[in-house]
Amino acid sequence: MAADNISFEPTDRDDLLAPYAIRTRNSKGRKHAEPAHPYRSFYQRDRDRIVHSTAFRRLMHKTQVLVNQPGDYHRTRLTHTLEVTQISRTIARRLGLNEDLTEATALLHDLGHPPFGHAGETALDECMRDHGGYEHNRHGLRLVEVLEYRYPDFPGLNLSWEVLEAQAMHSKRPDAPEVKPYLAVGQPLLEAQVVDAADSLAYTCHDVDDALSVGLITLDDLATVRFWTCAMERAQAEHPRMQAEHLQPTVIRKLIDWQVVDLLEATMENLRAQKIGCVEDVRRAPRLLVAPGPEVRDLKADLEVFLRDRVYRHHRVMRMAYKGQRILKQMFEEFCAHPRALPTRYRLRAEAGDLQPTVCDYLAGMTDRYAQDEYLRLFQPTSFT
Ligand code: MG
Repeated sequence: MAADNISFEPTDRDDLLAPYAIRTRNSKGRKHAEPAHPYRSFYQRDRDRIVHSTAFRRLMHKTQVLVNQPGDYHRTRLTHTLEVTQISRTIARRLGLNEDLTEATALLHDLGHPPFGHAGETALDECMRDHGGYEHNRHGLRLVEVLEYRYPDFPGLNLSWEVLEAQAMHSKRPDAPEVKPYLAVGQPLLEAQVVDAADSLAYTCHDVDDALSVGLITLDDLATVRFWTCAMERAQAEHPRMQAEHLQPTVIRKLIDWQVVDLLEATMENLRAQKIGCVEDVRRAPRLLVAPGPEVRDLKADLEVFLRDRVYRHHRVMRMAYKGQRILKQMFEEFCAHPRALPTRYRLRAEAGDLQPTVCDYLAGMTDRYAQDEYLRLFQPTSFT
């Protein structure tokens, strides 16, 4: 990365940043040198490039837990991403962290998910077993470093090192060549840690909300979950005459707020206790510094067990998962057997000798809806479009 191509104008508002926040002047820069922008800061450009990418728009029709269908109002990857971004920015601002970097990191964090959520990821990983496997974090990096084609001067989006590092931190294959360099710098920046914590607290809360809304679980089922009952008691104490229809959103809001406040307090205590005074201290810390306190950590773990048993393994969710996996696996086989059936851009790559990764890239880029349509185009006997 070329650090000398970084402009310092417009710069961070140094007076608003804590000493342990990353400054753009300390960035490791971008892979391809670029002139500074006259009015947007370094990480703001990362944010804007992510929002304008094709992969970002596709989040709108990608599964979070439930397969996206017209007329459904549960979360998709896009609305989940917006919730994570909003919570992350709140936390970052309160801690005095670099809000622009936090925002860019949050907007990017789920970009590499294939259609049909984690079920789709498992299916593609199996398809690619002999060709490097598939994992959404690595694919997210691949999208923004290689696959997006929007700029004449470089492949991908040419994002800053810090955004790419934050994306790499979750990879389950830390030894993969495209991941390893980003992980050699020590602990992740606080901005990346915030997004990770916000992601986790956001999806546990909204998965409960969505599961209630679509009838996978009932309020009675949640009577055994202490985090839920405690949050409900707090909500009812504040709103003793609350209408029944307000209960669910009020408890969900309480659950989120409780976790955000706890995360802020526990993190500030960690920063104080470990005398964190600069980015190097963050890098050298023995463990992550952005983390919930012990009470919330245990309550959340208990809620996560409930979600796994009662929601993620619900027969309606499993049915969607199996169907999504079947769709992806059959298309993978079909395109590998007949690469001439691929759209031109992919066919040329496949014919140049990169067959399986190309088919995988094509499938991973699909929305749920596009995958279903493409499957019908390929296999439905009455369709010849
Ligand atoms: Mg997420």
